[in-house]
Amino acid sequence: HGAISAKLADQLEKGSWIRKLFDEGKRLTEIYGADEVFDFSLGNPIVEPPAAFRQALQDTITDEQLGKHQYIPNQGLPAARHKVAEYLNSRYGGKIVQEHVVMTVGAGGGLNVVCKSLLNPGDEVILLTPYFVEYDYYADNHGGIPVHVALADDFSIDTKRVAEAITSRTRAIIVNTPGNPTGKLLSQQNLNELGDVLKEAEKKHGSLLYLLYDDPYSQLVYDAVPPNPFEAYSRTILISSFSKDLGIAGERLGYVAVDSSTEHAALLAQAFVFSNRTLGFVNAPVLMQRALARMESLTVEQNEYRKRRDLMVAVLQEAGYEFDVPQGGFFIFPKTPIADDVEFCLKAVQDHRLLIVPGSGFGRGGHFRLSYSVPIRQIERSGPVFKAVLDSYR
Ligand code: PLP
Repeated sequence: HGAISAKLADQLEKGSWIRKLFDEGKRLTEIYGADEVFDFSLGNPIVEPPAAFRQALQDTITDEQLGKHQYIPNQGLPAARHKVAEYLNSRYGGKIVQEHVVMTVGAGGGLNVVCKSLLNPGDEVILLTPYFVEYDYYADNHGGIPVHVALADDFSIDTKRVAEAITSRTRAIIVNTPGNPTGKLLSQQNLNELGDVLKEAEKKHGSLLYLLYDDPYSQLVYDAVPPNPFEAYSRTILISSFSKDLGIAGERLGYVAVDSSTEHAALLAQAFVFSNRTLGFVNAPVLMQRALARMESLTVEQNEYRKRRDLMVAVLQEAGYEFDVPQGGFFIFPKTPIADDVEFCLKAVQDHRLLIVPGSGFGRGGHFRLSYSVPIRQIERSGPVFKAVLDSYR
């Protein structure tokens, strides 16, 4: 027997190359200083929380209310759930009620709550690649088997491939838009087509299939209208968080919601509350819920990210990279000039002090992911660096 489980040892080993890359970045920062290292590798929100949130948090802290740090209902504060339901209804025009909203420890906690609530051992969960690789672990945590299906070249959902991948063991598909690592915003038509495929597959296999709609970047959308997942499919479970749009990723506040027209909505909510409790989350961070409940509106302008997106796109186009202009999130996923994206990213860091992440780490080689959630000045100064790495292959 080893010190840790064989499975964990294996998972640590598989992730070791990405740690090597980060270690190299850290080493370079120590030698040259942060200003001379171009770190585009991280997914941390750069924009500060809006004034309305900061004020609400301050009011929450100075409030003399007794017991404000105590345990609260596992489902979350009614006032916070009400706020979320109101926000979702204004966004999606649905009929979401606070009884069907569960406050969670980020979207990550929410996805685990949902996987635990739905999966029987051996149930398959379809993941669309390139993807947020934590999905593999979230499914596996609860006895699920990840099944990878490639997105089309433009990162839309290839519904034919999804249809072919569905078996009698399929339980769920996770859809993430705006996407990490692609920045892709899916169209309503594409989602509707997926909904049709799921409906047909349910009939064919006599099963219940869920669409897990993971949209923590939902308010980071530029010059476009985000799709409505509830319109596409009735067995939709929305998982999201305020990590990115309120810039409070470290505070761990997310939620899971179903529409009241969804079959078994009450039972699903009951299962989510139970899972939230028994996974040991107990309840989502209470101060954050209190602050949220005090906010007039949860809708946030995202001009800071739009500005960065535009600048980053200009830098990459000028340097000669091939990529789709993303309409959401804060990532871009360009092609690498050689097939071996790990080699390309190693060269970028070693020869140019440029930190970007190989696409293979997200299930699609021949690409790299960069995050433009970085200081504006870093983007502005990065042009020659991006160009030099690309030119070294010409
Ligand atoms: N889903 C996607 C696609 C993400 O990129 C992230 C974070 O980077 C998460 C979920 C988890 O976010 P959080 O748990 O902070 O809400």
